[in-house]
Amino acid sequence: MTCKGCSASVRHSQAEVAELIKEQLMLEDDLVDDDVYQARLVTCESCPHLQYETTCGYCGCFVAFRAKLAYKKCPDPAGARWG
Ligand code: SF4
Repeated sequence: MTCKGCSASVRHSQAEVAELIKEQLMLEDDLVDDDVYQARLVTCESCPHLQYETTCGYCGCFVAFRAKLAYKKCPDPAGARWG
């Protein structure tokens, strides 16, 4: 899968995504606990706006990253599905 605006690949393996997220979360200190995190991920997994099984169609974030951040909420303009 390529980006709509260029030819760069936008599909990452689950392992690549996990590694990227692990690195980025090491820079963050305002995180939700595992129960909240898992509840947010379950919501994203069933959301029609989830793309490539990893990415929010509204903000372009990896949901496994965004959902761990306490100060973030779901960006759905029709109403946040979590946060
Ligand atoms: S963050 Fe919100 S809009 Fe994006 S995939 Fe998750 S539930 Fe859907």
